[in-house]
Amino acid sequence: MTKAISAIDREALRRAWPQERLERVSQDLEGRPPQEVLAWAFKEFSPRITLACSFGGISGMALLDMAVKINPAVRVFYLDTDYLFPETYQLRDEAIRRYGIRPEGFKSLLTTKEQAQKHGEALWGRDPDLCCQLRKVEPNGRAMASEEAWIAGLRRDQGETRKSVGIVEWDSQFQLVKINPLATWTEAQVWDYIIKNQVPYNTLHDRGYPSLGCYPCTKAVAPGADSRSGRWVGFEKTECGIHTSGSPEAEKAS
Ligand code: SF4
Repeated sequence: MTKAISAIDREALRRAWPQERLERVSQDLEGRPPQEVLAWAFKEFSPRITLACSFGGISGMALLDMAVKINPAVRVFYLDTDYLFPETYQLRDEAIRRYGIRPEGFKSLLTTKEQAQKHGEALWGRDPDLCCQLRKVEPNGRAMASEEAWIAGLRRDQGETRKSVGIVEWDSQFQLVKINPLATWTEAQVWDYIIKNQVPYNTLHDRGYPSLGCYPCTKAVAPGADSRSGRWVGFEKTECGIHTSGSPEAEKAS
């Protein structure tokens, strides 16, 4: 499903949110509960704000639960790469039933067959950056087309490229405000929220997959291993490319 694209004046949006303002707001919200950050975000940007939920990670599910309790009409999207695990679609359907949401799935402009014809079979095994560009980054841009802000589940404890994530920052890749309400939370805090609030989560987490993406690029990891070490095994790649702007470290890694 593709959302109708309305013109957002990106330059005007940036002028309204200069770096000093973003940093001031981000500092004010630093250490505040994620629910307060979400409430601020909805007040500031509704209806031009959307929540990214991959139905693959615990952060997205915790955020979804929090967001729906604050704003039942929250707009939710996910990237349907056509290579998602069956368990991911099952969780999406469970979330639809439980929360009454209507998540919008954004797909690549190329079917998997067209991609194979154009770039060869199993592109992820040869050029995962291009595959992610085609199946994640470009669709993510379309998901942002009519938005002024998006909410993501990034946490600083998720690795080097995420350790400087701000609560509120400018997304220079997609040219809008990005809000990371869980930036200061740890994985343990998120699990605690999930358990206490009985939030549904991807059942693959119980089978050795702490971080989930597409099935060709995600492997189970040993207990205690880095949570993202099962992603793109054999490549230096650690990010799909949609979160490579914002923090200085992320900019360097992009
Ligand atoms: S995670 Fe793998 S299969 Fe999915 S878009 Fe990226 S390279 Fe392609």
